[in-house]
Amino acid sequence: MGRVFVAGSINMDVVATAERHPRIGETVAGDSVLYFPGGKGANQAVASAKQGVPTTLVGRLGTDAFGRELRSFLAAQGVELAFVKDTTGTHSGTAIITIANADNTIVVVPGANARVDADDVAAPTLATGDVAVSQFEIPLPTISAFFKRARAAGATTILNPAPAKKVDAALLDLVDILILNETELGFLTGTELKDSDAPARFAEAAGSLAQGKIEGKIVCVTLGKRGVLALVDGEQMLVPGRAVKAVDTTGAGDCFVGALASQLAGGKTLRDALVYANIAASICVQRMGAAPSMPTAEEVKAIVT
Ligand code: ADP
Repeated sequence: MGRVFVAGSINMDVVATAERHPRIGETVAGDSVLYFPGGKGANQAVASAKQGVPTTLVGRLGTDAFGRELRSFLAAQGVELAFVKDTTGTHSGTAIITIANADNTIVVVPGANARVDADDVAAPTLATGDVAVSQFEIPLPTISAFFKRARAAGATTILNPAPAKKVDAALLDLVDILILNETELGFLTGTELKDSDAPARFAEAAGSLAQGKIEGKIVCVTLGKRGVLALVDGEQMLVPGRAVKAVDTTGAGDCFVGALASQLAGGKTLRDALVYANIAASICVQRMGAAPSMPTAEEVKAIVT
């Protein structure tokens, strides 16, 4: 069995709830404060590790209380943390979120995540059959360095270009599997895509992305409750979404990416991995939070037919 290596962000999400948002310069009394481990890198590593596949996270934390808490949370989820460095002179990645009347405001401060560098991703040894995963919450040159090493070792590379940012063709060249949602696909292709659009329209956009920049690669477009559409050498594969009662879709995409990577490292075919990840993500949306709502292999396998 291969291993999954995730190079990415680790954040503490600090959520304050109140009856209403303060106006500029105003202070309001809130109702509660909640702390959620997050960051796309951490979420995806947890989703993979919980499938029973050896999963190593490469990233950075500050030497602060959040850093210590995040490290012990991730260790308890079974994520290998030998390549997560404590970094002085900055703080752990932190998101300050306020929620009032179902509306939120979010300020994310990358802190230590912005310091993840080419030396960090050069530290672990990857091998053929491993899967290397990254997202856009660490510096792009670091992702390029990571994927170059992964490719040289014979590992498969997966990029989740989120949050959406301009990507250059040189980085896309290093990607085997691109996993993105409708918004990110719209951003990268300069197309206006809506939730209600027909799958054919997503396929067309994904196809234009594939032909223009990443010929021969696999593009997976996650479509929320409608499931996922994969484009493999121009052929479409649609795995329909499962009809479930979603309570919180935060982290659904991260769950999908981590679960898919774990199955590919375990030697599954792309179709089987897509079906598995679609089930894992449908379980995730039925629970609150991101990292804490990732399902275990037992929970997913109870549904896989
Ligand atoms: P993101 O979180 O990046 O916006 P999506 O919303 O596309 O990503 O969700 C990722 C995956 O999670 C989907 O492909 C699907 O497998 C699953 N999913 C998301 N929302 C639902 C839902 N309401 N019901 C069932 N599955 C869902």
